[in-house]
Amino acid sequence: MERERDMRLIRPMLRRFCADKKRLPLKISLIYALFGVLWIFLSDSLLEFVFTDPHWHYRGQTLKGWIFVLVSAGLLFGVIEHYRRALFRTEESLDELVQGVSAATGEAFFSLLTQSLCQALKADYAFIGELTGENNSRVRTVAVYSPEAEVENFEFVLAGTPCEQVVSRGLVSLPADVGAHFPADSLATKLGVTSYVGIPLFDAEGRVIGPMVVLSRRPLEDQNLAVKMLKVFSLRAAAELQRARSEKTIEYMAFYDPLTGLANKRLFLDRLEHALPQARRAQRFPAVLFLDLDRFRNVNDTLGHAAGDQLLKEVGRRLQLTLRKDDTVARLGGDEFLILLPNIRQAEDAAQVAEKIIAALRLPFDIHGFELHLAASIGIAIFPFDGETTDGLLKNADTALNRAKELGRNNFQFYLAEMNESSLSRLGLESQLRKALERGELRLHFQPQYEVAGTMLVGLEALLRWEHPERGMVSPAEFIPLAEETGLIVPMGEWVLRQACAQNRAWQLAGFAPLRVAVNISARQFHQYDLVRLVRNVLAETGLDPQWLELEITESLIMQDSQGAVQKLSQLRELGVQIAIDDFGTGYSSLSYLKKFPIQTLKIDRSFVKDLSRNRDDAAIVDAVIALAHSLGMDVVAEGVETVDQLHLLHGKKCNRVQGFFFHPPLPGEAVTLLLEKLSTARDEGESSLLCSAL
Ligand code: C2E
Ligand code: MG
Ligand code: MG
Repeated sequence: MERERDMRLIRPMLRRFCADKKRLPLKISLIYALFGVLWIFLSDSLLEFVFTDPHWHYRGQTLKGWIFVLVSAGLLFGVIEHYRRALFRTEESLDELVQGVSAATGEAFFSLLTQSLCQALKADYAFIGELTGENNSRVRTVAVYSPEAEVENFEFVLAGTPCEQVVSRGLVSLPADVGAHFPADSLATKLGVTSYVGIPLFDAEGRVIGPMVVLSRRPLEDQNLAVKMLKVFSLRAAAELQRARSEKTIEYMAFYDPLTGLANKRLFLDRLEHALPQARRAQRFPAVLFLDLDRFRNVNDTLGHAAGDQLLKEVGRRLQLTLRKDDTVARLGGDEFLILLPNIRQAEDAAQVAEKIIAALRLPFDIHGFELHLAASIGIAIFPFDGETTDGLLKNADTALNRAKELGRNNFQFYLAEMNESSLSRLGLESQLRKALERGELRLHFQPQYEVAGTMLVGLEALLRWEHPERGMVSPAEFIPLAEETGLIVPMGEWVLRQACAQNRAWQLAGFAPLRVAVNISARQFHQYDLVRLVRNVLAETGLDPQWLELEITESLIMQDSQGAVQKLSQLRELGVQIAIDDFGTGYSSLSYLKKFPIQTLKIDRSFVKDLSRNRDDAAIVDAVIALAHSLGMDVVAEGVETVDQLHLLHGKKCNRVQGFFFHPPLPGEAVTLLLEKLSTARDEGESSLLCSAL
């Protein structure tokens, strides 16, 4: 028993002694010398004991010499051969490893390397990993090998593992007791790992991008060889890992939008192309939704591109949350998005999704501390009815989108055959509109505004008209949105402002009582960087006193960027011009919010005035608006007054000014001159007003 225990202690010592190839020649010499000394002592004592006869003793001595030579030669051969074979084996496996590995690239390289490392070092596991996650706190393996079983790639948290030390300090070599050193490393504990060698892999800039590791459940036969092999292959492994990462990035950039992380057009088309034949087989009707954000440009123009980018990211996130996993959301560029719904059974499903999207985007966005309101227009094309090819579907969804925009935005439209024609006419309209300004086809009409109590003409609203050579008078409702979109509104708006101020000044110079002229300013114009300078210059050029100019802006325009709007409006106010909010009640603003803005006039939208006498709700809204506006020191103008009933009601509600077809439609300049002449003669003749009869 005791002997057995001794052997159990001695055997590993012996094995370690033999395995350690340090000072190999000295060891062989020592073994040889020890064997020689033992032989001399033992053989001499034996000879003396066995042979007493001197003749036989002499013979025995000779034989002993021969036996020593033969046995020691045999032993020497055995020892040297053992080491030679071991050396040869290592060389051979290294050679194989280098040859095999150097021919491979990418994934093949990683799996071959891990496999060869395991085989050459007789290790149980080898893996190559890359750092991922926030602050590189995790490792994801790109290749794992175990000779015993097939192991899938896995991911683990770096903290508390020997790999953490590899990443932070460099090479780690632990011949034994890995579990005891790293009790928190559950994976190592689970696998029963004893030996560990790990080396960091660096990218070209010297940053650690991952570890390369060899693990074993028994102590590695040759820990030093493991360290050397990892050192030899770490450079190549790092280069391959970096290459794989760059390839991934390039692939990502080729198929994804870097800003939002959504698919790009290429990936979208790819998915659409795959979806079409599948849909045919499965009797599905994939839908393509083309989405455009309304008024997004204003955000970029006013809050800057960083805010714009943030908003786009948010929109992308909301779209993804609204849609299902098998739907694809792609960003086409700018504020345009494409959505593929591959599993639609009927058109109504697509409509439902579009509605859901519009509702999701209608909720305010909190961007850099600003509450922004967005709206979206969506065009829908359904396979195979609206197109049988990817190109056809995209084109028709785009056409449907344009129709949605024409219909006042914030809505969705299906593609219909006749839409193609209307979009062609739109294209024609755009190029004609560009020429309208140069050809002098724009006209300015003026709609008179009366004071409701005094029944006196107090102002004129300048309204743009386009005298088209073939189509006659074109309504601004038709071309202002197009002018906004194309940017033509800027030179057009400048023309209107100059024309309105010049005309007003001309009437004053002609001796008529001074009136205030109101000019509509659209979003694009308002956000124009030099609007204040333009107004100042036009006033100076025309000689009009600023108090006779009123600028009408819409509430949604100021709500988009309230901070910027307050600043710009204050600068305009400093010039001395009046500011009015047009179409009040159609946007999202609250009256209390308006306190912040330097506004003198609120124009109640026509839609509230229309049913004033029949609709109690509208009457209540008008009451509230008037009361609140007055409490904020603002005047109220009612638009679209068409009947005497409406006028009476507004009079009773203490509305300040009125305007509408009941008095006059928008009139050409000459007609206004005639009206002014008529009014001034009436005044001279003592008639209090032309309107007395009406009230
Ligand atoms: P708005 O500023 O609200 O102008 C009032 C619109 O209501 C005008 O339409 C006017 O003709 C119409 N209107 C006035 N009284 C009545 C009425 O009693 N009943 C009805 N049914 N309608 C009435 P218009 O001239 O077609 O202009 C439409 C819109 O186009 C304007 O709405 C304004 O937003 C825009 N617009 C017109 N001229 C310009 C301009 O020079 N610059 C800009 N940026 N926008 C303009
Ligand atoms: Mg107006
Ligand atoms: Mg209006």
